[in-house]
Amino acid sequence: MSDATSMRAALLPAPGTPLRVVELDLAAPGPGEVLVRLRSSGVCQDDLNLLDGTVDVPAPVVPGHEGAGVVEALGEGVQGLAPGDHVALSWAPYCGRCEECLRDLPHLCGTAWPLMLAGGLLDGTTRLRFGGAEVHHYCFLSTFAERAVVPARSCVQIPADVPFEVAALLGCAVTSGVGAVWRTAGVRPGERVAVIGTGGTGLSAVMGAVASGASQVIAVDRRHERLERAQQLGASAVVVWQGEPEQVAEAVVSASGGGVDYAIDCTGRPGPMRAAFLSTRKRGAAVMAGIPRAEAELTVPARSIPRMERRVLGSIYGSARPDRDFPLILDAYRRGRLPLDRLISHRLSLDEVGVGIDAVRSGDATRVVLDLGGDA
Ligand SMILES: [Zn+2]
Ligand SMILES: [Zn+2]
Repeated sequence: MSDATSMRAALLPAPGTPLRVVELDLAAPGPGEVLVRLRSSGVCQDDLNLLDGTVDVPAPVVPGHEGAGVVEALGEGVQGLAPGDHVALSWAPYCGRCEECLRDLPHLCGTAWPLMLAGGLLDGTTRLRFGGAEVHHYCFLSTFAERAVVPARSCVQIPADVPFEVAALLGCAVTSGVGAVWRTAGVRPGERVAVIGTGGTGLSAVMGAVASGASQVIAVDRRHERLERAQQLGASAVVVWQGEPEQVAEAVVSASGGGVDYAIDCTGRPGPMRAAFLSTRKRGAAVMAGIPRAEAELTVPARSIPRMERRVLGSIYGSARPDRDFPLILDAYRRGRLPLDRLISHRLSLDEVGVGIDAVRSGDATRVVLDLGGDA
């Protein structure tokens, strides 16, 4: 531990307690790991779930799973990266050997998922310490910090001209939303898309659908200001969530001229998920991109599944492969086809992380980013 670094980070001592910005010890990267000087981190709804204790990751823990920064040091055996490289971080590293990886589904890696929930890195141990006691990682990343030691497979090199705050958002919201459209659904030009829930993931899905050439992109949310933002980002129509799922679905069916090909739920709540299903036309699919609570059940009219050939598709991390899809998404950003910087509603410092958490919790934020300092 002689080569441990000291750094500032937001520590969650236990679920339900406030975050504390403290000095933590970070051990040197082990084999297959990378030390990253973090420059920007997004604040995601999943971080709130961790704070509230609805995610089963052990505390104490450093939250944050949307990050970007600069490579500072490499552990043994890491290839293809060098100090000074700019990287965006993925919370879905993969082993490359399990059944899911061999089925070309690395985002569902059977090795990484259980280890992620255990709060260590891929060898099951942690690099973080506070006052000599172990601190856990969140999603292998823990980006509410000045530095992180992460699996090399979480690092995706990015062009040096991409702002870190945009690169950070690739790590969760953007890839989950754009990927749900591009990869899970595979939306083709001329198809009709509805997006239910227009936070960071939903607005990313709106932008992804517009960039795919969807003929209609209908945004659904309770909040008018979010729907306005969706329209600014290219939504062709908006539906205010009012009343029951049936009424909302009727409004989407009417706005789209008979139902959509893909209705993407980004809320993970059973009502909106049902509305998504009911918004689809024949051969349409509801794409479930929000994460429901463990006990949630979904009820849909079964007969319409064969009669209308309706489908339900699950989407985690946009069914994306970060090493393939981060560069594609950034290329679209650099060409102006995905204006990802317009997702950012709040720019805060690490010390203001509590303000950011409140802005996400209240629904006021589209996306909060933390500026983690470092050289310009
Ligand atoms: Zn695997
Ligand atoms: Zn997230």
